[in-house]
Parts: sequence; structure tokens; C-alpha cells
Amino acid sequence: NGVMAALRAEVVIDLDNLRHNVSLLAGLAPRAETMAVVKADGYGHGAVEVARAALESGASWIGACSLGEALALREAGITAPVLAWLDLPGTDYAPGVAARVDLSVSSARQLAEVAEAARAVGVEARVHLKIDTGLSRNGCRPEEWSALVEKAAATPEVRVHAVWTHLACADEVGHPATDAQAERFDDAYREAVAAGLSPLRHVANSAALLTRPDLHFDLVRPGIAVYGLNPVPQPFDLRPVMTFRSSVALTKRIPAGESVSYGLSWTAGAPTTLALVPVGYGDGVPRTLSHRMHVWLAGRRRPVVGRVCMDQVVVDCGDDVVAEGDEVVLFGTGERGEPTAREWADLAGTIDYEIVTGMHRPRVTRTYR
Ligand code: PLP
Repeated sequence: NGVMAALRAEVVIDLDNLRHNVSLLAGLAPRAETMAVVKADGYGHGAVEVARAALESGASWIGACSLGEALALREAGITAPVLAWLDLPGTDYAPGVAARVDLSVSSARQLAEVAEAARAVGVEARVHLKIDTGLSRNGCRPEEWSALVEKAAATPEVRVHAVWTHLACADEVGHPATDAQAERFDDAYREAVAAGLSPLRHVANSAALLTRPDLHFDLVRPGIAVYGLNPVPQPFDLRPVMTFRSSVALTKRIPAGESVSYGLSWTAGAPTTLALVPVGYGDGVPRTLSHRMHVWLAGRRRPVVGRVCMDQVVVDCGDDVVAEGDEVVLFGTGERGEPTAREWADLAGTIDYEIVTGMHRPRVTRTYR
């Protein structure tokens, strides 16, 4: 691609695709508001840029993990409601309360910390009480829920805006755990109402948004689908947002019998042209993709041969003409047949979430278009 400057390692973030995804998702949950989840720097796509684009295209909330992530969004000028849900004991919530960040609360200890911050700032804290309905991660155990709810209802410094939970198996459509979690959630909601609260409810991650309209409630919390990656088998018109590209640094012709890369684990069976691409595991290419991955180069998929190194991979181009400086797509939308983050994940034995999130690296330039 002669128009774009050649960079060693670049992720290109297609915000049009992101806006398309958010408006599709918001349209699938028409009675709920949409919270775009941008934790871990927007799953590697850039939290601030993603949040802005999502808020332009149908989202009205932003989800962060830590208070620090939420405050970074505020500092960037994002004024929409932001929820932060996981911090350590002893966290100073005062800056969060002052910045009107919604805070998730999972325990009486955390409730007391948030209330103290609210007192210090002189602003009522808006909290979302989190119930652990079966994931056994963050959230309050059902046995402790009524005590937490009563305590929250009796704490004047906090206002309970929502009750919420997170699902364990929503991506396995029809999994009975989802119904079991929904039942526990319903019990928890009823207890909150019985304690005099009138909270919003939110449960659905991307998979539940896509497949469980009965769990949309007041707010849906898609993450991965915002980035165009579909967590369920059913097809949806989600468009991958991230493309990982580089350029050919050097080409060479080798005779039959020459071998390639550390360990000399691949040997040319015939004379062939090699293209050297200056990205490796230091740029997010899993070394475990050695001998398995392909790239998109000069109009087709071509195999990487030999081992993936820290800074380099070598592509076998056969007798085709490839030029130094040619664009190489490591993964992209898949529209032309190029590899996708999902293909990498399948080859590496992981999920596409980890692939895209792992592209947040100092050596990888991020460009928006
Ligand atoms: N809600 C919470 C609490 C999460 O931790 C996450 C991400 O794991 C999400 C929503 C979004 O999930 P997904 O990316 O599967 O849509």
C-alpha cells in the first residue's frame, strides 16, 4: 500500500467498523442502554479513542476495570457515565467520587471505603452493587447479599444506582449455568427492591447481548463485540476493528536445501524467494505460531517458514514477485482472506480477546482511520 507510510509494526484501528459494531449492538438491545467496555486500553485498541467513537454511535456508558482507567477517561474529557469495577483494599475512591465515576461495590469493606470517600468529597457516590451469581470472581456471595444491600440502603453517602452480575458461560449458548445465574440474580434484585432500593439491572456481556434478549435489562455491557470479534457461533455482521500490518524489509532468493531461522527447522525443497518481515514475538506474534501462521502479502496468503523470532519472521513467496517495502498484513478483517485475530487465537490455543489485547505494546504503533 503505497499511500500509507511503511512502519515496522502497526495496528490500524478502523473506527468506522467500531461505530458500525456499536450501532448494531445498540440496535439489538433497543430497550437497554449500551455500555462499551474499554478496559485494558480498549482491548488493545485505545480506550479513549474507542470510548469517543462508541459514544458517537449508540453507547451511552463506558465500562472500565480499575478506577485509574476510569479517571484516565475523565482526564481525556469523556463526560458520559463510566463504571469502574475492580480495585484493591485501601484504594482512595475520593478522586473517583469527585469525577462522578460510578463505582462497583462487592463487599461491606468496599462500601465503607466508598462512603468514606464520598464524605470526604462531599458528593454522594453512585454505586453498583455486584452479586456473584456463580462466576466466583468479583461480586458479593449470595449469602452475604442481604447484609450488603441493607448496609448500602442505610448509608446516606452512597446511592445504589444498579445491581449487576457477570456471566460465566454466556458464550456457550444454551449452557444451563446462565439460567442458574439469572435466577440468582433475580433473587438478588428482589432483595434489593425489598430493602427499599430501585436499582437498574445489568448482566449481559457481548455473548448475552447477542443471544439472550431476556437478560438485556436496563444496560448491556459488550466488550469483545465492540471490537468486531464474535464470541458466539451464530453469525452477526460484526466487523473486526484491528488490522496488524508491517512491510517487507528484505527479499532474497535461496537455492534448494537452504534452511531458515533459528534451529534451521524449515528447509527449502526448491529454489524460492523469501521475504523478511520485521515483526516477531516482541511485537505480539506468538512464537507458538511458528510453522503454522500465514500472512497476507502481494495479493495472497503465504506461509511463515521457520521459527518466529523476537523481531523477525520469514515468509516463503515461492517464485512470485514481491518487493521490499510491500505491505504485509499479519491479521485483519479477513475480508480478502487474510488471517484474522480469531485464526491466530485458534492456532495459539487461546481466544481472540488475548490476541488483540496483547497488541498494546511500545514497539507497535497504533494508527486510527
Ligand atoms: N462486563 C464485565 C464485568 C467484564 O469483566 C467484561 C469483560 O470481561 C465485560 C462486561 C465484557 O465482556 P465481553 O468482552 O465478553 O463482551
